[in-house]
Parts: sequence; structure tokens; C-alpha cells
Amino acid sequence: MRVEILCTGNELLDGSVVDTNSAWFEARLFALGEEVAEKRVVPDDLGVIAAAMKEIATRADFCVVSGGLGPTPDDLTMEALALAAGVPLVDHAPTLERLAGWAKSRGRELTPNQARQARVPSGSQVITNEYGTAPHIQMKVGRCHFFLLPGVPREMMPLCDEQVLPVLQKHLETTGRTESYAFTQLRCTNIWEAEMAWVVRDLPKAFPGLRIGTRTTFPENHLKLRASGATPEEANRTLAMAVSAAREKLGTKVFTEGTRSFAQCTLDELRARRWTVALAESCTGGLCAALITEVAGASEVLLGSAVTYTLSAKSRLLGLDAAFIEREGAVSEAVTQAMATAVRKKLGADIGAAITGWAGPGGGTAKDPVGTFYAAIDGPAGSRVVRSEVPLVDRERVRRGAAFAALHLIRQAAIDGTAGRPKQD
Ligand code: ATP
Repeated sequence: MRVEILCTGNELLDGSVVDTNSAWFEARLFALGEEVAEKRVVPDDLGVIAAAMKEIATRADFCVVSGGLGPTPDDLTMEALALAAGVPLVDHAPTLERLAGWAKSRGRELTPNQARQARVPSGSQVITNEYGTAPHIQMKVGRCHFFLLPGVPREMMPLCDEQVLPVLQKHLETTGRTESYAFTQLRCTNIWEAEMAWVVRDLPKAFPGLRIGTRTTFPENHLKLRASGATPEEANRTLAMAVSAAREKLGTKVFTEGTRSFAQCTLDELRARRWTVALAESCTGGLCAALITEVAGASEVLLGSAVTYTLSAKSRLLGLDAAFIEREGAVSEAVTQAMATAVRKKLGADIGAAITGWAGPGGGTAKDPVGTFYAAIDGPAGSRVVRSEVPLVDRERVRRGAAFAALHLIRQAAIDGTAGRPKQD
């Protein structure tokens, strides 16, 4: 099965929008045991899009086309497919009716350019797009089954899951593919991508047919695992064994196999211990608290966060001695640890956590250059501080890295039970 992607849009070629649609689709296809043979990005130019489609029609079995289905003059995908297929565009009455109803419900008349979205290549299959206005189109041209999808990711992704992947899956089942595949990914923190790849390097030898890959969305690193087998059950069995071997090697660095955020996983561990947490943040300016409060029910766990950005805020809000801060340095192990202890006591939490750092571009010292941060936690049963330097300094990376480091300390303490005290104390 040869699958290609064709992305349209000037915005993808002038640096204003990153093509995330193809990366997303490639990951979905990989999970099915297939890979995209080729992808192409073309401008909003009718001749160029139609020529690309004609070429793809001669060699691919399937092609996902993203973008250019909207109402504006630069939306040319339907017209291009009609040209490539050598058919006219025709009005699709149900889509026209739906668009008119959509406009009416907003107290508007349907404008002629909006009505353009209902002009589809003659002979194509028109599928209602529940996530937007432009319909989803499928059409066979030459040897290739084309799927036209909107460029907007929040429309493209669910349509693809519901309308495209089932067609590909069915094709694979009916064209005698003898192998079945099972896929998952383990999301990790507090481990470098290279280190993760090294730790699990022997897994493919231990589980024939297993393919592994790594991916970074800083500061998370993801381990992708795809197992194959003669039947779906066999593929699932191999995958389960490989996952458990990978988990054994990676330990608590794996925080989920699913979609929960790192903050959510941290909160779940705290909830299991019935522990509360209080934060004192400097260079992260409340980012750690923001990540935690994205999770519903965070108030059961997070008592509060003090953004103590300046020396005087560290003294006035946390009660740290100004001379001590001057002596140790605002970004230092001692001050970060003292902040964690102070905020824990002030708010009466089981765990206090604190962050200081040089987010850049200014600041830094010879010992702690820009990009350095400290994260600390404190509880009656233990305290810990970590220091890290984020390479290739960029302010956001330092801040995100520091917030995740604090969350990691909190989660690890809750897993180990090495900090904090039982709620009834
Ligand atoms: P609409 O009906 O909203 O106009 P459309 O199918 O015409 O949808 P485009 O106009 O091509 O889609 O793109 C709409 C927006 O979707 C773009 O401005 C861009 O923000 C986003 N987008 C388009 N293509 C991609 C892509 N390949 N990856 C990520 N985002 C994309």
C-alpha cells in the first residue's frame, strides 16, 4: 500500500505555519504498521496542485490532501482535483442546504464565496464535516483514492480518524496483509532522548518484529513501540511484553502510556498519598502552578503558589533573610531549598517545592551560567534539590524544564513516600 500526503497552502511555505498535519497523520499510519511513502507541500496555485495530484494519481494507492477547502479565493483543492480527474465541479445540494442553514442560524445570508464550498468534483463522495463547514471529499483518480481534508488541525484530525483511517485499515485487511500490528507510546521525563534510546536498545532483539522510536516534545521524551504478529492477539501480546520490559528499564521515568499530562500524573500520585503541596516559584513565574491548575480538581492538592521573583519578595513573602540570599545568591541550592521549606511551613502543606533559575538572556554567574536552574522540595521526611543546565538556551525551555523538574521531584517523593507526612499529622 503506497500512501502519500499532499499539503497545500502558501502559509506552509513562507514560514508562518508549521505543517503539523502530516506529522500527526504519519504517526497514525505508523501505528497501523505502514509508513507514508512521500509528502509534498505545494502553494495555493491551481496548476501546481492539479499537476501534483495527476502525478500522485499514477503511483499512489491513497493520498491525504490537507487544506484549501475553505471559502476564500486561495482555497483551490476541489477545483484542482476536478482538473486532475478531468471532471467538472457541480453543486452538491445537501452541502448547499447545510451551509445555508448554518448561515441562517447565525442570522446571515449565505454569501457566494461560502457557497463555493458546496462545489465538488462530479462523481466524488461527499461526507459531512461535523467539525466545520467545508465537506470532506473522497474520490478515486487513476489508481489513487484521494481524501480531501480541511487544513485546520482540529477539523482535520477527527475527520481523519473517522473517515480516512478506517478505509486504510479495511484496505489492509482485505488485501491480504499477513501481519497485524499493535502500537503504543511511553511518555517519560527526567531522561534525555539519547539516554532513553540507549537504555532500551536491546528490546528489538528480545522481541522480533518490534520497532522502537523516540520523539521529544521538550521536556518530555516519548518511546514509541510497534509490535507485529501473525494475528492481532499475537501483536498485542508481544507489545504488552515489550512495554513491561521497557517499563522495567525506565522505571518511574515513565509517567504514562496514555494522554494524561505530567502535571496530572503528579497530582494523581499526591492524591494517592493524600498529600498537599505548596510552591514558591522564581524564574518560572507561576508556570508550575499553571500546569497543575490545568488539571480539574487541583485544589484538593495545591494549596497555593508564591511567585517570589525578586530578592525582596523572597524575604517579605517567604521570610528568607536578605543577607542569606545575598551571600548564597538568588539562584542557588541553599536559597531554593530554603524557599521550599519556607513555603511548606507558611501554607501548612505536606510538600513544599521551589524553583530558581537563570532563564536568560541576561544574568548567570560563572558557576551557574544562563540556563541553570534549581528545583527543590521539602517535607519532614526528606528534602532534595536538583541542579540542571538547559543547553541551547532559550527562555521558554529553561522555564519549562524547571517547572517539570519541580513536578518530577514532587511526583518521585510521592511515589517513594520519602517526603511529606500523612494528612492526619
Ligand atoms: P478553512 O475552511 O478554515 O479555510 P481550509 O481547508 O481552507 O479550511 P486552509 O485555509 O488551507 O484550510 O488552512 C486553514 C488553517 O489551517 C491555516 O491557516 C493553518 O493555520 C492551518 N493549517 C493548514 N494546513 C496545515 C498543516 N498542514 N498543518 C498545520 N496547520 C495547518
